[in-house]
Amino acid sequence: MLIQTRSARHRLLRNAIFTICGSREPTTACLSDICRRAAKIAGRAKPWGHRHLYVLLHLDRYDADKYPITDELLKSLISLSGREATNGKRVVKVYAHQVRPFAVILMRSRKCARPSCHTHFVGLGNYCSDKCRTLYTKHLRKQAAKRKRRAELLRRRRAQRKRHTRRSR
Ligand SMILES: [Zn+2]
Repeated sequence: MLIQTRSARHRLLRNAIFTICGSREPTTACLSDICRRAAKIAGRAKPWGHRHLYVLLHLDRYDADKYPITDELLKSLISLSGREATNGKRVVKVYAHQVRPFAVILMRSRKCARPSCHTHFVGLGNYCSDKCRTLYTKHLRKQAAKRKRRAELLRRRRAQRKRHTRRSR
């Protein structure tokens, strides 16, 4: 089995269908189209019925034991959604924990907050790593301290000038 728990399999199936149809309310036409293309990928002579796919999509309303999500269907749906999702996209390398190899990751790319870092995919938080966070927050703190010193220097100079002009009057 690709994924063990039924709810995880259901979620995977739903996400794959939503990705392919580009909507959370897929039309019958789209479901029929998916069935045809998925059957082709699976090498099945007889395609799945769109009604069957509809039932699987709304499995919470039906007796789930009667309608198992087979590996054959799930695999071809994932493959199909991967093709849709990667259409016009570039292949990049992703190093990640707990993601199976060749998984399709659908997420907006977000650059690491440290400007000189080349990482363009940040999950939670603003930095790609603790190293970047440390480096950049240190840099920001240094700059803030510099600004503060400069402001302090200017304030002192201004005060000195005032004293000087008062004295020379
Ligand atoms: Zn970074």
